[in-house]
Amino acid sequence: MDPRYENPVSVIGRAAIRKTWKAADKYARVPGLRALVRKERCVGCGACVRKGFCRFGAISMGDDRKAAVDDRACRGCTRCTHLCPENAFTMEIRPPAMVKEALKGLDAEISRALKQDGR
Ligand code: SF4
Ligand code: SF4
Repeated sequence: MDPRYENPVSVIGRAAIRKTWKAADKYARVPGLRALVRKERCVGCGACVRKGFCRFGAISMGDDRKAAVDDRACRGCTRCTHLCPENAFTMEIRPPAMVKEALKGLDAEISRALKQDGR
């Protein structure tokens, strides 16, 4: 449809949804969950990195030619656990102190983003 004839409420609604998804993608984190690699299962095929299993860039190949997960980047989405052909990824529940720390970090990140937005 020609955008000039579109209902302005729909246009605003769509823009709001896009913005919300973007923010969710950037900041959403499942508190208390992180991925771990079961090294004994990882065969070092590199598919997780090559095929981008992680949308947040948390997976890399280590010097030992096994996959590794960066704790700070992992959002706990569990995507990688469904994709590895060797079922090498597993999820770990973080102890409460680590959760608190993660939430504190997230809080600071959101405050910074809001400030940048002028709010
Ligand atoms: S974690 Fe899975 S996909 Fe990644 S290198 Fe190991 S076996 Fe391959
Ligand atoms: S759980 Fe999600 S965010 Fe964490 S490494 Fe796996 S795919 Fe990436």
